[in-house]
Amino acid sequence: MTSGRSNWWYCCSGCANKLAPFSGLFKELLSHRTPESRLLLIRGNGGLTNVNFQGKESINQVPTCVTPAQLQDESWMAQTNLTNIHCSNCDTHVGWKIINELSNHPIVRPGQYILRIDSENEIIYWERPRPR
Ligand SMILES: [Zn+2]
Repeated sequence: MTSGRSNWWYCCSGCANKLAPFSGLFKELLSHRTPESRLLLIRGNGGLTNVNFQGKESINQVPTCVTPAQLQDESWMAQTNLTNIHCSNCDTHVGWKIINELSNHPIVRPGQYILRIDSENEIIYWERPRPR
């Protein structure tokens, strides 16, 4: 059983750059779902790749600016500080890194990421053979 979803990726809506493997998904934030987009909570060790902070800063740096934001899902709410993340190829804003979580939330933790995926994008998942 070597197939499955190991080669499936969430991709940039701007240029189809691979952003996170399917296996990196922690959960979708269903309360933030709109007809246009979905927000996906990605594990901190979920393999997120090809993203930068604004100005091409590495996502492992301390961000220069954070924005307070309230995340919610059906039964919970978390108060966070976020910073934008951008596609390293086309610079499209693709989501956020969670810098702080202020209520010691059991699900939302610093170091996780949120990807915003375009619902109308037909390449939410992208399967591609492994490089030789
Ligand atoms: Zn892109």
